Amino acid sequence: MQSFPLFLSLLDRRVLVVGGTDQAARKVELLLSAGAQVSLIAETVTGEIAQLIADARICWAGRTFDQADLVGVALVIVATADEALQARVSQLAQAQCVPVNVVDRPALSSFIMPAIVDRGPITIAISTGGLAPALARKLRAEIERALPAAIGRLARFAEIFRGQVRRTLGEPRARRLFWDRVFDGRVGELALAGDEIAARRELIRLLDTARSDRAPAQGMVHLVGAGPGDPDLLTLKAHRLLQRADVVVYDRLVSPEVLGAARRDAERIFVGKRRGHHAVPQEEINARLVALARAGKSVVRLKGGDPFVFGRGGEEVEALVDAGVAVEVVPGITAALGCAASAGIPLTHRDHAQACVFVTGHTRDGETALDWPMLARPRQTVVIYMGIEGLPAITRQLVQHGMPASTPVALIENGTTERERRVVGTLATIERQAARAQLQGPTLCVLGEVVALALVKDRDFRLALPARL
Ligand code: SAH
Repeated sequence: MQSFPLFLSLLDRRVLVVGGTDQAARKVELLLSAGAQVSLIAETVTGEIAQLIADARICWAGRTFDQADLVGVALVIVATADEALQARVSQLAQAQCVPVNVVDRPALSSFIMPAIVDRGPITIAISTGGLAPALARKLRAEIERALPAAIGRLARFAEIFRGQVRRTLGEPRARRLFWDRVFDGRVGELALAGDEIAARRELIRLLDTARSDRAPAQGMVHLVGAGPGDPDLLTLKAHRLLQRADVVVYDRLVSPEVLGAARRDAERIFVGKRRGHHAVPQEEINARLVALARAGKSVVRLKGGDPFVFGRGGEEVEALVDAGVAVEVVPGITAALGCAASAGIPLTHRDHAQACVFVTGHTRDGETALDWPMLARPRQTVVIYMGIEGLPAITRQLVQHGMPASTPVALIENGTTERERRVVGTLATIERQAARAQLQGPTLCVLGEVVALALVKDRDFRLALPARL
């Protein structure tokens, strides 16, 4: 170990900062967030420091440093470019046993400033012993990613029950086991999800169980948006939940790459439609989710795109709530947003589309009951989910209701994945083009002037569209 890690209490302690640079401002902000009283000495200061002075958040002396400034300070930070001054402050501070840090000069410093991950009361400090600050930053980014932003909330929540748990469970081992169960299980999930009342109830139940060692805790279902296919488009929360799920229940739209993000030994249950087979009926999926949660499992119900956009997420939430199972919904990037970004199509545009409508083209008996006059209106973008089978009827209706046959249309198959294909044309040509392309995977249809704007990025688009666009 190159240096000894400590967490210093600076609440209401005086800290001296020498130098008025932007670098000094960074350190001052950190010191203030730890509750320190900051005195700053610098003849000139930059805008950020000037603002801190104007807001009366720090005391400023506009003169040169003097040895007497060190009296009564808990530590000193030097952030000036003046090397002679750096050396002088460092030497005097060390002579008086005041901890000193000179920014970017480890040789003149008696302590270093670590890279910090700050999550409410939880603080993680990282040091590479001064060898590779860039590596420390990378580690910090990785830890930031792995730790949910609400982890501080969990610590504060646990603190409320610390005394009670100590009184109830006398044996340290029993306490340790209990807290493991709290942080790894449903209580932790509920507290992280912000449902403090349910978390309290569950914790008390768990404590009761720990005392009398009764039935195992109930599980929980997270209804998670898997995004359009590219695993990098998962939210951090989805990723974290996949990493700790006991069971992942998924359907056809979830790409193998996304499924790969799940914990290696998580059980995977497919409930989608396989070629030649019917999809598992919705009631059966609901019943399965309820049963898994009741068996104490942490369940991730993974749905393509966003669970609440043409995903029947609402029905699943209803069934779970009715069964008294805790459920959390985690949004995902819906196909429209993923495909539009990937194809470079701005869904709204000041000059071309003031609105964007998402509709389902899912057909019953070949006809789609959509509000055609509304969809055919100018100056909007229409995105059709599940529209490939009904495409002939859709194009016919739109033209009949006044949408110009020259309106640009893009079909995007397997958007955001490595298998993405695009077919671009106009309302007049797209049906024929789609038939020729034999689109097999999930395909999204985007209609409107904005489709033509993608030609800036994509040569195929330019070739396919009429010259006027
Ligand atoms: N909940 C999903 C939509 C489910 S409906 C979401 O928010 O995206 C299924 C339809 O979504 C498909 O028929 C297709 O039109 C569209 N879709 C989903 N993923 C897609 C993808 N990667 N590329 C193109 N279309 C996609």
